[in-house]
Amino acid sequence: MSLFKGPMREHINGHKDLTEASELFVVDPGKTVSIPLFAGAAQNPKVLVAEGDKVAVGTKIAVFDERNVVPIFSSVSGTVKGIEKKMHQSLKQIDHIVIENDGLYTECQPFGTIDWQSASREELIDFMMNAGIIGCGGAGFPAYIKYKFAKDVQILIINAVECEPFITSDYYLTEHEFDLMLTGILAMKKMAEAKDVAIAIKKSHPELISFVQSKLKGVEGVAVREVPDVYPMGWERTLVREITGKDYDRLPGEVGAVVNNATTAYMFGKAMVKGEPIVSRVMTISGDGVKKPTNALVRMGTSMHEVVEQAAGGYAGEDILLSVGGPMMGATMTTDAVSVERQNNALTVQLNKPAQEIACLRCGRCSDHCPSGLQPVRISQAMKSKDMERIGLLQITSCIECGMCTYVCPSKIAVTETMRRAKRAYMAFSKK
Ligand code: SF4
Ligand code: SF4
Repeated sequence: MSLFKGPMREHINGHKDLTEASELFVVDPGKTVSIPLFAGAAQNPKVLVAEGDKVAVGTKIAVFDERNVVPIFSSVSGTVKGIEKKMHQSLKQIDHIVIENDGLYTECQPFGTIDWQSASREELIDFMMNAGIIGCGGAGFPAYIKYKFAKDVQILIINAVECEPFITSDYYLTEHEFDLMLTGILAMKKMAEAKDVAIAIKKSHPELISFVQSKLKGVEGVAVREVPDVYPMGWERTLVREITGKDYDRLPGEVGAVVNNATTAYMFGKAMVKGEPIVSRVMTISGDGVKKPTNALVRMGTSMHEVVEQAAGGYAGEDILLSVGGPMMGATMTTDAVSVERQNNALTVQLNKPAQEIACLRCGRCSDHCPSGLQPVRISQAMKSKDMERIGLLQITSCIECGMCTYVCPSKIAVTETMRRAKRAYMAFSKK
């Protein structure tokens, strides 16, 4: 199998105009917040508070892993009500720390500030680890790991591509908070020991590009890199290839690249300059399934139901599809009674318009457009015959669930859904 077989990318309607110029709506988290004990790949959460404890905005409430790192901080001031199992975005019941909000938002500073210029690379990595900075573009991976193991890095790529339709939260922060973002970028450059930094922005956003270029005057080694307005240009593998001209096998480090999202750089800059952890974030709430698409500032642990009701004026219909993230790669939710977390850049709500599916035309468009070079029709056939070994041979684990095969299918077949099921089934089979 070869990666990047076929055109592997397609211009798709971005619908960015729905929220690009919107005012930032500040969401009231309500009487309680429920903060999930989740930090991407980090495991073994240790809760630091107990029922009845008073907390402030910024109180450290949980840590992860054996090293007690990537902490979570309270997003409100008030009283801890306890630990409850609740539905999580993974669609599993997991522990949440429930905090009664006193509405005062009394703050504490959980860690000191740091001057990235005088701090050593190791001190900056430790700071990032203990400030709870995780990848804010969707995956939620603890960000420090990329830098701790970085070696022979040529280029740091800041991903401000936002290739998924509807989402504009990275654009919002790039436009409104670039100074803090740049502080984060320069510290990341030092941590990666990278010669150059490329801030990747789609060519279709010339005003944002000019704005960032004007802010970079006199900043050595950091430049904007314009990239085509195609999907999935924001996928790490596509972006690294676009910027370096190289493909990698497992990690960008193999070709001398480190990639971080623009919001992650902003959060890191804010933590360094102000001593503030991630207690709230900008999210895009958009799609034809909400009354008033917008960008909103949301505190961690706020229910998605509140976010949609307050920020976007509620749902525009009864039969909707709710995705955490964008419509292509976002995770479909079966309920809006789940909490917002650090890695959530968007909520996309679409009216459910069941398409009239017809039989596969064998047109090959799904294979031609797959960025991972897969053959979805063959995988679907192997799924029908439950041939797990064949599914493995067809490289299902390389599927990034990008949604492209469904998007391009003229028969309106939910191809990606079958790919997802095949991937889960194969992973369960291969663990046996
Ligand atoms: S969802 Fe998977 S199979 Fe479909 S286009 Fe994307 S990577 Fe390829
Ligand atoms: S794009 Fe749709 S119709 Fe064409 S081969 Fe793939 S599944 Fe069949």
